[in-house]
Amino acid sequence: APAPTPVRHLFSDPAEVEALRGNLLAWYDKCKRDLPWRTLAATEPDADRRAYAVWVSEVMLQQTQVATVIDYYNRWMQKWPTLQALAQASLEEVNELWAGLGYYSRGKRLQEAARKVVSELAGQMPRTAQDLQKLLPGVGRYTAGAIASISYGQATGVVDGNVIRVLCRLRCIGADSSSPAVIDRLWDMANALVDRIRPGDFNQALMELGATVCVPKAPLCRECPVKQHCQAWRRKLFGKPTPVPDVEDCGVGDCPLCPPAAEPWDSSLGVTNFPRKAAKKQPRVARTATCVLERRGCHGALEYLIVQRPSSGLLAGLWEFPSLPLDQGLQEQKQREVLADHLRAWTGRPVVAGGLRFIGEVVHIFSHIHQTYVVYSLPLDGDVTLDPALSPSRWVTEEEFHASAVSTAMKKV
Ligand code: SF4
Repeated sequence: APAPTPVRHLFSDPAEVEALRGNLLAWYDKCKRDLPWRTLAATEPDADRRAYAVWVSEVMLQQTQVATVIDYYNRWMQKWPTLQALAQASLEEVNELWAGLGYYSRGKRLQEAARKVVSELAGQMPRTAQDLQKLLPGVGRYTAGAIASISYGQATGVVDGNVIRVLCRLRCIGADSSSPAVIDRLWDMANALVDRIRPGDFNQALMELGATVCVPKAPLCRECPVKQHCQAWRRKLFGKPTPVPDVEDCGVGDCPLCPPAAEPWDSSLGVTNFPRKAAKKQPRVARTATCVLERRGCHGALEYLIVQRPSSGLLAGLWEFPSLPLDQGLQEQKQREVLADHLRAWTGRPVVAGGLRFIGEVVHIFSHIHQTYVVYSLPLDGDVTLDPALSPSRWVTEEEFHASAVSTAMKKV
């Protein structure tokens, strides 16, 4: 069983919790940003429609900035205003709309989950965080909590990157904030803190505070509506831990939530001592050869061959120029040869390695992969018959290419 949490890291005073809720909600009512999904969630009388809007926005917002998401969200809701409409969309259409937003499996799973609601749950969204997480593929604990609290009024907390930062600062939690032990405590804290009457607004307020005031690098503590409840702020002002009765239990090296003894409070960092994360794993390095095959189309315009990726794995179902992962350390000549071999299948004719024109290298950073595309081009004469036994493929003009479900990396290529 986990050790009990030292009082210093808890919200143990009910009067303080009430005051914090009140201050945060009053600030949110006054200062919140107008966002299209918020407007819909506040005005739409149908709870399932609210849930759908919150769901779409939350999935888009994972790993993506609000400013980028707004346009995608508006186009999505215009095209598929309901869960039922989304369930009828094809993966191709979903990928096309998602193109440029990154992490493509998010869009795919959203659509799969919509289909499941329609086909297996009689079109009814699950209404609690627990059921949402259990029944809908791709819906994790955070998204489930957001949908249940904002759309169905369930008093359940949420923990995302913004909430982690705010809570770690409010309670001086300096242990690795990505560790399961800390994350579990933060969930307990979020569930205990959430306002019982306005849970959705409270959760959004906590996230909004993290996004606009309690930001990672230069938080605006003086303007913060909860600074009087913030231990990191007090510690910055007074230069020492808040004097609470059992403070001696912390900071001696065995508290599971304090900064590790080897990395004590650094007064030059102030409140940004929190949160702390263990060093990130280095991304995997990968190289891929890719070839832009071009031909003159029947109307004289240049056309390019694109092929579809497998329906699972990285960039599932997206279109790309014929590409081939390369083994590490392969010499240039060998690279050309393996690529020429690979292209033979697409063109239905021998391809001479020397005929491939090297264009350059394109680097694209995925979350966990440092990918380099080694780009070649090859003009083709005459007609090329595409083999239907291979993955789907098609010739597209430049304009059609940009309108297709292609990744940002391929657009760079
Ligand atoms: Fe964040 Fe500063 Fe507010 Fe504390 S006082 S919650 S560190 S913005």
